[in-house]
Amino acid sequence: MEEPKRTEISEVGEFGLIDLLSQKVEHYHQSSVKGIGDDAAVLAATDLQRVVTTDLLLEGIHFDLRYMPLQHLGYKAVAVNVSDVAAMNAIPTQITVSIGLSNRFSVEAVEALYEGIRAACTNYKVDLIGGDTTASAAGLVLSITAIGEVASDKVALRNGARKGDIICVTGDLGAAYIGLQVLEREKAVYLTDPEAKPEISKYKYIVQRQLRPEARMDIVHELRERQVVPTSMIDVSDGLASELLHLARNSGVGLQVYEENLPIDKMTYDTAVEFNVDPVTCVMNGGEDYELLFTIRQEDYEKVKSHPDIHFIGYATDLAGQAHLITKGGTVVPLKAQGFNHFKE
Ligand code: ADP
Ligand code: MG
Repeated sequence: MEEPKRTEISEVGEFGLIDLLSQKVEHYHQSSVKGIGDDAAVLAATDLQRVVTTDLLLEGIHFDLRYMPLQHLGYKAVAVNVSDVAAMNAIPTQITVSIGLSNRFSVEAVEALYEGIRAACTNYKVDLIGGDTTASAAGLVLSITAIGEVASDKVALRNGARKGDIICVTGDLGAAYIGLQVLEREKAVYLTDPEAKPEISKYKYIVQRQLRPEARMDIVHELRERQVVPTSMIDVSDGLASELLHLARNSGVGLQVYEENLPIDKMTYDTAVEFNVDPVTCVMNGGEDYELLFTIRQEDYEKVKSHPDIHFIGYATDLAGQAHLITKGGTVVPLKAQGFNHFKE
């Protein structure tokens, strides 16, 4: 078997590497006046407001390269930042990417990472306008900053929900968490028996939700087309319970959701059962779904009710700062940020 090609970063040097990485970069936005290649990027001012968000990802803390291909990691790192921009009801325009590399990483490895980054840039139409490159003592460090734009009357903060508003969530929840359990199980099998073949093909959807999530920019665009501005919005990165509490506390309302309305994919449900985990716990505490959770005024319901991927899961009450789940049996369960425990009544 032929070994994959390995070029040491020291062979091309830091500048050679940056040159390689910036070769295939395309720009989509006129506001990107100057991208990679100077002391700083230059952005044109516009009438819109700017949103800025950043994420720092450390190997061993936020990702495990034993099952996360570098290309997927690059894609996901961009997607999670775009998801934060989406959660402001803004359109992402630029990103910067900073990396710390130990000598374990070859030029080819960094190129794989950037293939994923560029794929996400193409998909979400964002311009890679700069970054920083440095050596790291151990492991991979990846930090992405995203910039987006939104008209001042369309910004969706966490604090605008009002009593009577309808709670909406996109897609389905809990899949990324249970997909991670599958990957962890296969890793454990592999570590004891390197000859073992990974058993993940039948879990394709949930594994993909973990390894290569998508930001819901489609929803941001569709809400605009339907002329709906959410009264509050957040992306679901830490589990539904925690995000509901963020909206409830910031808005000073109560949020009440119904178990029967929670969107759970069948594979998520079945795999949770297989792993002896409560599917509702996956939804409430799982995390990394990168769906959008938002509230709308009742009068906007007609404009979005036919949307196949927006689910109406409850409404806002006057129980300031609290969130509750109403079970299928009618029990009212107060939600905590973590430690949602399915109906230990
Ligand atoms: P400086 O010494 O001024 O920090 P650098 O040599 O680090 O400049 O960077 C040169 C150019 O390459 C800058 O435009 C910078 O934004 C860009 N750049 C550096 N590292 C990366 C990277 N990992 N990804 C994208 N752009 C990068
Ligand atoms: Mg630099």
